[in-house]
Amino acid sequence: MARERDAVILAHNYQVPEVQDVADYVGDSLGLSRTAATTDAAAIVFCGVHFMAETAAILAPDKTVLIPDLDAGCSLASSITAEQLRAWKAEHPGAVVVSYVNTTAEVKAETDYCCTSGNAKQVIEAIPADREILFLPDMYLGLWLEKVTGRTLRIWMGECHVHAGIRPADIERWQAEAPDAELLVHPECGCASQAMAFGNERTRILSTEQMVRFSQTSPAERFLVATETGILHRLRRDSPDKTFEPVREDAVCRYMKMITLEKVHASLRDWKFEVTVEPEIAARALGSIERMVEIGG
Ligand code: SF4
Repeated sequence: MARERDAVILAHNYQVPEVQDVADYVGDSLGLSRTAATTDAAAIVFCGVHFMAETAAILAPDKTVLIPDLDAGCSLASSITAEQLRAWKAEHPGAVVVSYVNTTAEVKAETDYCCTSGNAKQVIEAIPADREILFLPDMYLGLWLEKVTGRTLRIWMGECHVHAGIRPADIERWQAEAPDAELLVHPECGCASQAMAFGNERTRILSTEQMVRFSQTSPAERFLVATETGILHRLRRDSPDKTFEPVREDAVCRYMKMITLEKVHASLRDWKFEVTVEPEIAARALGSIERMVEIGG
């Protein structure tokens, strides 16, 4: 049906396995943005959460962007509004605003640089050292960026409930119980800053795409994964001879799991639900998104 309707199906790494399996492309936010910007198809069925579909609509204004469930939101993106950001900017005139891609289009319109966990370090490093930086909305990613870049950031105290739920105790337990395993930690995790402080040479702080690449090339055979459990399907598919285990089985994003195969089918059949962004907001958000897509990760 996707071929008949000239649509491409894009799925985030946290989608349920059966949705990942029908997708033309599976990846993280950055990879999905790049694919949305370059696809030849007339329509994009975006299997992810709403802010991601908005980003696709901004990058591909001549295409129809559909999301199979309009209620697929994001607790992290909801943690800051454009009004709150404008007030924060007013307190720090001249500061450079760096937003993690998990933000609404209105917040992106107030942003200088967008980033994903895959290229956040490069984005911070691209900003002159004497400039003040406001980083939002994820505090754990912000703390990790301070560590790896040596820069001092002003950090918005937002968090993702799924990643914040992965606690240092979960990591410590696994460090003791699985001494043969490599530990793959997403920098949004509530344990990430502690994992860096107490981690050992087996602890890797990686974006989801970096987890996929790292596990394919590492000689290790067993991996413990500290992020949303949807990534396990992709990791197991791409490295079928290796073992992947979640540090917490309940690290599940209910928003990501709202997209089902039935809803993807209905979306294609009934051409719903179209995601659009007001042209004035889209034009302002586009610059920050283009800078994100240009800076690699
Ligand atoms: S896992 Fe967290 S950051 Fe990702 S979509 Fe779900 S709520 Fe948002």
